[in-house]
Amino acid sequence: MKNIIFIAPPAAGKGTFSDMLAKKYGYEHISTGDLLRDAKNKNDALGQEISQLMSSGKLVPDKIVLELLENYIKKIDPSKRFILDGVPRNVSQIAPVLNIFKEMGIDDYVVIFLDVDYEKAMKRTLGRLTCPKCKRGYNEFSEEFKPKEDNLCDDCQTELVRRNDDTAETFKIRYDTYMSETAPIVDYFKKIGKLELITVLDKAVDNLPQIERIIK
Ligand code: AMP
Repeated sequence: MKNIIFIAPPAAGKGTFSDMLAKKYGYEHISTGDLLRDAKNKNDALGQEISQLMSSGKLVPDKIVLELLENYIKKIDPSKRFILDGVPRNVSQIAPVLNIFKEMGIDDYVVIFLDVDYEKAMKRTLGRLTCPKCKRGYNEFSEEFKPKEDNLCDDCQTELVRRNDDTAETFKIRYDTYMSETAPIVDYFKKIGKLELITVLDKAVDNLPQIERIIK
């Protein structure tokens, strides 16, 4: 199996596909959004800076994200394949990420671009719920990912929460940020022959066979 980088607009399903692949194939799922949310929850000066940026829908400075990423990757079992969910997120993060790969001796990776339309991504954003304890993701507008009981995690019965950047206003800013900062990195990976495109279908499970063909 290849290492994977997901690139996508907000709420396209990076986290969902990452969780599915981690469960089925033992991938290590590395989400920079999750690393930042954990740092934010420490509520120190750095946490407060991160919190402000994330809730505004803007990107967090490269230095902060890359430091969290490097520290996290160092602790991972080196024999494990991993999924990068959320990084690189702009052109200036490409070289540092590829440098980390180089230092780890990795060249068998694929970049999967999840193509989803604006309206679908907005709807997914507004329905998204997460378990704060086990981090399992749900969506109240999706038959596939609805919790069995309203607002409760199927696995640990914890009350589900909504991300505070999952509002219509912040989604619009995150989408604009994606268009200006993240979309240009697609061209780079296309040029070096690493890019695969997946058109996101209504049910994530229907996209899985295509993703599996790409990563094997
Ligand atoms: P996500 O969980 O991927 O939707 O990310 C949530 C938020 O975290 C984004 O809107 C950004 O503010 C921040 N973020 C996540 N990954 C990065 C990154 N690689 N660089 C900068 N900011 C990031």
